[in-house]
This record gives sequence, structure tokens and C-alpha cells, in this order.
Amino acid sequence: MDKSVTVEPGRLLIDGGWAESRSGKTFATVNPADEAVIAQISEAGPEDVDVAVAAARKAFESGPWSKMPAVERGKILWKMGELLMERVPQLSMLETLDTGKTLFDSGKIELPMAAQILQFYAGAATKIAGATPSSRSDAFLYTLKEPVGVVAAIVPWNFPLLLATWKVAPALAAGCCVILKPASQTPLTAIELGRIGLDAGLPPGVLQVLPGSGSLAGMALVRHPGVDKVAFTGSTEVGKTILREAAGTLKRVSVELGGKSPNIVFADADQEAALRGAFSGIFYNKGEVCAAGSRLFVEESIHEKFVAELAGRADAVVLGDPREKATRMGPVVSAGQMDTVLGYIASGKDGGARVAAGGRRADEVNGGKGYFVRPTVFDGVTPEMKIAREEIFGPVLSVLPFSDVSDVIAKANGTIYGLAAGVWTKDVAKAHKLARAIRSGTVWINTYNLYDPALPFGGFKQSGFGRDLGHEAIDGYLETKSVWIDLGR
Ligand code: NAP
Ligand code: MG
Repeated sequence: MDKSVTVEPGRLLIDGGWAESRSGKTFATVNPADEAVIAQISEAGPEDVDVAVAAARKAFESGPWSKMPAVERGKILWKMGELLMERVPQLSMLETLDTGKTLFDSGKIELPMAAQILQFYAGAATKIAGATPSSRSDAFLYTLKEPVGVVAAIVPWNFPLLLATWKVAPALAAGCCVILKPASQTPLTAIELGRIGLDAGLPPGVLQVLPGSGSLAGMALVRHPGVDKVAFTGSTEVGKTILREAAGTLKRVSVELGGKSPNIVFADADQEAALRGAFSGIFYNKGEVCAAGSRLFVEESIHEKFVAELAGRADAVVLGDPREKATRMGPVVSAGQMDTVLGYIASGKDGGARVAAGGRRADEVNGGKGYFVRPTVFDGVTPEMKIAREEIFGPVLSVLPFSDVSDVIAKANGTIYGLAAGVWTKDVAKAHKLARAIRSGTVWINTYNLYDPALPFGGFKQSGFGRDLGHEAIDGYLETKSVWIDLGR
């Protein structure tokens, strides 16, 4: 295939126009499959943040968006979804170049889902409503739902465009103005989302895009008194920093953070379905999934056979350029991420876990260029090991056996995280019991890693708070105002 793709240098989208950064600085975004620079991107700094926040405040306060009839806002969001779908061939290539995910995953799964998110919230815009409590005869009481104001959406690199829509779509539906800061590793499709917004008819300043570093542009947004809310998805560590810094101006904050999600297979499960779910639960998107089922709990009686079968499937995975049809797994996102993942693999080996599959960099792929790691299965893992406790965010699975329901509930909940969980069983009562007992924001029964625009997603415990998706996400971008009208005696 022709691998030459020309990508234009990326600029900042500020107040309805494209601009270089005021400092003139740029940064390179790199293709993790061959380590080549894809494009130079203007790097937003604090000066650019000031200009963008001023434009967002002006747009918010003068009201071309928040005062527009909700049905008109909805039409523009719907149009954004349509334009996104029309541009899937271009956008999926950009997403694949930037992240290393396969073209199938970007083009057939994630971008269509991003379009669905925009169109779900197109409809949701018209369903925002307050309440009229009937508790008094001497007064008319009602609540208004008002947009929170200027929102900074700070997103990670694992699903760059999809996770951007998880924030941008409900915030726009609510009538907010949004400044989107993509991750440094993956700015390309966020810039295109800005273009889609302009082409769909968003007024200037309503959606702005500022590629730049977290510590400069990101922090400037978090501290800025003109920003009303920070909607963050990323690591638990950065989430904690953001909470501390946002306290200075008492901003609203929602944080969707890391996980170490349990995926639980009972002996009575459909074994083939469970194998597929265990496999895709950890290896989808190279394991760079916040909800990855990175702790696999297998009932003792089937443990040995299950792990052997799973390891065989992991060893059969074809790694390669994510643009090639035969490729089932691309490279991890960056050199830094590869080093982190290889560090965890070394720790697993040193700690005495058994490598059942993988366990190394795949330097035979692409002549040693690119950040390829073999899908790795560790067996004989114990709950104290680092690989059982910490989020690896790569294609590394830790398998732990369990004896019965109460044993696995205790082990599954033995983590600081609480993002998601999977349960595989044919026993309906057991499934529901586990769904209640596991302390996490999502529980999948006999499936894994599925998302619907209508179903809220987010964390318990140190996986964060606030919800993306569903009507709950819109609530996060609204203030409630109570109005009391005296009716006299
Ligand atoms: P990260 O380092 O926390 O970065 C996330 C975003 O925050 C990036 O845009 C980053 O910019 C920015 N950032 C970094 N430091 C900042 C600061 N001091 N102030 C403001 N912004 C800052 O996370 P990552 O390594 O990109 O992504 C992986 C993590 O995200 C994993 O832990 C994963 O579990 C989590 N995640 C969670 C969910 C969920 O829904 N719960 C979904 C996906 C990923 P730079 O790129 O310039 O550093
Ligand atoms: Mg980072």
C-alpha cells in the first residue's frame, strides 16, 4: 500500500480562525509505527490560553450559542456528526498515524461511535429541563438549568477524537463554550474536530482547540479564572494535580481517571465467549484502554486450560503497521509508554510471575523501528505484585485464580480503582450478585468494553468522579438555579 500521507502543519483554532501560537513554538507529532515525524503542530502557551478564554467568555456572555434555541444547537451538533462520518476515511488515517491503532479500530469502530455521540447529544440538547415543585400554595417555585459557562476539556491520547466528543458534545448541548486541549502525542484529530465544528456552523469562540503541553497550556487552563469547569480524562496522578490547582478558583471539575479492572471468568461461563472477552478486554487498542480488563480472575477448576488457550491466542497476534489489513495489533503510542510497559514486564518477571505469552518488545517487526510490544500474559500473579496493583496501560494481562464468589469479590475490590469490571457466567443470580458487589462505575456481564451514548461511564474510588455519556454527562455542564416567586397570602 502507499504509505505516503501528507499532513498539514497543525494550528490553533481560536475565535473562529486558525492561528500560529503567539510564541511561535511548535512540537512534532510522531507515528509510533515507524518513529517518523508526521507533522509540526503549533504549541499553545499561556498567552494563547488567555486569548482563547477571552474569546470563549465573549461568546458565552453575548450568547450566540447559549441563547440559541436548543433545537438549533441540536441541528449543528447533528451536522457535526454527519460531517464526521463523511470524513472518516481521512480522520481514521490521521488517528491511526498518531496513535498506532489499526485502521479497522479507528475507522470502523471509534469514529462512527464519535459521530453517534454528537448525534445523541444533538437530541439531548432539547431535553434539558428544570422542575416545578408543588410544595407551597403561597409561592411558585421552579428551577432553571443553565450552562456552567466556559469549559476546558483536557483529554488523553488513547482515543483522541472519541474521548474529545465525550466532553465536547454534552458541553455544547448544554450551551457551554469549550476549549479542547488534546494530548501532546495525538493532536491531529482534535484539530479536525474544530474544523468540523466551524464547517457545521458553530459561532466563533464556541469550540476552540489548543494543542500544547499539559504542564503549560493545560495548567494555564486549569488555573484560569475565566474557565468555569475542567472536564478531564487522563491519569489518576494528573487528575489529583488538577483538583488541587482548580481549588484556587473553585472550578467545577470532573475527572475520569485510571483503572485496574477485574474481568472474572466462572467455570460455568460459555468458555469461547469468555476467552474472546478476556482477550479483547485486555488487548483491544494495545491495552491502552482506561477500562482494560487487566486483572483476569479465573475460577480454579478451569484456570490452567483457560490460560493455555488465551496464551496461544496472544502468541498468534500479528503485529505490524496499523495501516496494513493483516495487522491485528499496532505499536504502543510512544517510546515513553513502551519503556513504561517494558518496565512492568520486567517487574512481573522479577516478582516471580510466569510469562505465559509475550513478555518482550517485538523488535523483529518493521526492522526494529516502532514501539511494538508482544501481547503479554502473566500467570501465577499474586495480589501484592506491582503488575496486579498498578495500571500498566499496555498489552499486559495479569491472571489470578479464585476459589468462589466471596473470594473473587474480595479480590476484585482489592484495588484503589473502580472504573469497570467484567463477569462471565451463565448463572443469572450470580451475575446480578456480582454486579452489585463490585465497586466500579460499569459492570459488563458476558461482554466487555462496550459503550452506548445513553449509558453513563465513569469511576468509583480513585478512578474519579463525574460521568461521561448519558443524560448524566449533561448535568455536569449545567448549574441549577432556584427561583422563588411570592404569590402572596
Ligand atoms: P495524562 O498524562 O494524565 O494526560 C492526560 C491529559 O492531561 C493530556 O492532554 C495531558 O497533556 C494533560 N496534562 C498532563 N499534565 C497536566 C497538568 N499538570 N495540567 C493540565 N493538564 C495536564 O494521561 P495520559 O498518559 O495521556 O493517558 C493515560 C491515562 O488516562 C491512563 O491513566 C488512563 O487510565 C486514563 N484514561 C482514563 C479514561 C477514563 O475515561 N477514565 C479514559 C482514557 C484514559 P500532555 O499530553 O501534554 O501531557
Ligand atoms: Mg501524558
